[in-house]
Amino acid sequence: MSEIITAAINGASGEELSNLPMPESYKAAFVRREDAGMFEGLETEEKDPRLSLKIGDVALPELAPDEAYVLIMASSINFNTVWTSIFEPLPTFGFLDRLGKESAWGKRHALGYHIVGSDGSGIVLKTGSAVRSWHSGDKVTIHCNYVDDQDPAAHDDSMLAANQRIWGFETNFGGLAEIAVVKANQLMPKPTHLTWEESAVNALCNSTSYRMLVSGNGADMTQGDNVLVWGATGGLGAFAVQYVLNGGGTPVGVVSSASKVSILNELGVEAVIDRKEKAYRFWSDEHTQDESEWRRLGKDIRGLIGEDVDIVFEHPGRQTMGASVFAAKRGGTIVTCAATSGYMIEYDNRHLWMKLKTIKGSHFANYREAWHANQLICEGKILPPLSAVFALDDVGDATYQVHKNLHEGKIGVLCAAPSEGLGIDDQELREKVGEDRLTIFRRNDG
Ligand code: NDP
Repeated sequence: MSEIITAAINGASGEELSNLPMPESYKAAFVRREDAGMFEGLETEEKDPRLSLKIGDVALPELAPDEAYVLIMASSINFNTVWTSIFEPLPTFGFLDRLGKESAWGKRHALGYHIVGSDGSGIVLKTGSAVRSWHSGDKVTIHCNYVDDQDPAAHDDSMLAANQRIWGFETNFGGLAEIAVVKANQLMPKPTHLTWEESAVNALCNSTSYRMLVSGNGADMTQGDNVLVWGATGGLGAFAVQYVLNGGGTPVGVVSSASKVSILNELGVEAVIDRKEKAYRFWSDEHTQDESEWRRLGKDIRGLIGEDVDIVFEHPGRQTMGASVFAAKRGGTIVTCAATSGYMIEYDNRHLWMKLKTIKGSHFANYREAWHANQLICEGKILPPLSAVFALDDVGDATYQVHKNLHEGKIGVLCAAPSEGLGIDDQELREKVGEDRLTIFRRNDG
């Protein structure tokens, strides 16, 4: 492994890399099947990813014809690694076992350990015999839509395919490792002006936000739209507010600290609500929502932008959905991709039907959407919200930060990259985008 890493860092050519023998094993972050019951009886908040996430050597699996081995220079923590590490709502081994029954290649995934991670930037080491568009030495980022191209349903919008999966969550061999095994149709070009760690934090959340807001498959935002963005400096929200600004709209960002307010202001978001300061209590007890609190939110939004929002960018779920449905304007859209605070949702349906609102479900993105979203990163039009960088050995700590909402934007993880700051190929574009803009989240990391 060390020979490959040294060669890659020293700029070995694709041919040189492809001639190096692949290692029998590599370092990775994983959870173990035998630990799936370790948090039984504990509340979600009490479950500690630092106890369940292990770092160690794992065997390199064989490469299928449509796959590539990628040397992962850097990866990132996504919320799905929190879910895997606390075994909620289900242990992810069930996903691996199902994939294991699908095909001979699928069988490789059903192991006693699950290598996590759904983002990555790195260098293609080797490609399978059916791969045409990518070659050893290509610098790439990886999106997490894992699709079987023999499923007819995958050929319109691949997110509608029955067996669509999220790599590193519903499949094994994820990105929090020195090597990842991915399908060739997960690969995208690495942004030339970014470091490995800046490049690694975008694909999952950026593509998801793109589909939710920009794509016709999502809320189909148009110029001038007002958009309420929950968690506006979180993984998804950090991209969402940028899409609203780029699309000529007005974001209303909701966050929970003064340092997060500063980040939004620096990004150009003027209308910001600090939900901690406002102390909304949408639920007066576990079973009852308080409509007067929804009205207070609506009033706060109108106080900032003078009108209601066309779109609500939803993902906290149970805690906020009632308020979100209320806050959207007549004919507005609530687009949702998650339910961090609980997935059994309650809202007042009268506000939905009488005011002709739409709730739109969205999940990750198809290859075309992920590619477009990546292109915007490559052009410097969307900024990577990297706020902190951890070592692969400290994935448990990094995941704990996200689980406890102690982070801002995205946390990067160095995998094969020996230090931060490497991987920039286009200094001119970097200067054009601006070092100060590229480091907004790092500088304001509270
Ligand atoms: P982050 O933790 O990075 O950000 C979420 C933000 O939401 C936090 O920063 C916090 O912001 C806010 N938040 C958390 N809890 C609440 C609450 N009860 N009420 C209001 N705001 C809250 O996570 P991500 O943005 O990466 O992901 C968010 C969710 O979306 C997760 O559940 C994740 O699994 C899911 N997801 C789904 C995807 C899909 O394809 N379906 C893709 C990516 C993520 P603050 O405290 O500042 O208000």
